[in-house]
Amino acid sequence: MYLVCTLFFSLFAFLYPLGGGVGFPSDICIPCELVKNATIGLFTGLFSFNLTMILTATAFTTLIDADHIPQFLGFNVYGRPAHSIIFIVLSSVLIALLSRKRRNEALASGLITASAGLSHLSLDALAGGPVFPLFMPIAAVEVILPDSIWILFQTIAALLAFISGIQIRKSAASVAKLGRSS
Ligand SMILES: [Zn+2]
Repeated sequence: MYLVCTLFFSLFAFLYPLGGGVGFPSDICIPCELVKNATIGLFTGLFSFNLTMILTATAFTTLIDADHIPQFLGFNVYGRPAHSIIFIVLSSVLIALLSRKRRNEALASGLITASAGLSHLSLDALAGGPVFPLFMPIAAVEVILPDSIWILFQTIAALLAFISGIQIRKSAASVAKLGRSS
């Protein structure tokens, strides 16, 4: 579902065609990027102390880069439209709503989605520079953030993962309680 969200958002790239000469950087090592993203996602997910949340964070932190696909396919359009605060908020709300589970579980799903998004931005800020199209798809403006922003992004991501773990445990506890009382 998250991949569908990211791919859908990648279509917004076509709203912002680029001039000639700009395309997918040929020097990018895709397997290296996948491993780096999965590692930071795994690290962030660990703060939840919950296996499902750890796996979700690992997957989502990696999948967000699917927004590069239009550029990768050779379309001369804006890159990484999902590297946006708007995408992080919308995808988190959508994943929470679609998880259609108990309230705490839905909240945990939304929180871990936001956590993965921020964790990815943190890594990108550290590795490639803190410049993001934060307001895509409303505007294709590259916002330049302070160099140290990755620390803030990663701290918030870890905190959100931690709270998502609490929500999952609350949900499990209430299920156990219901089981005992019935
Ligand atoms: Zn990225």
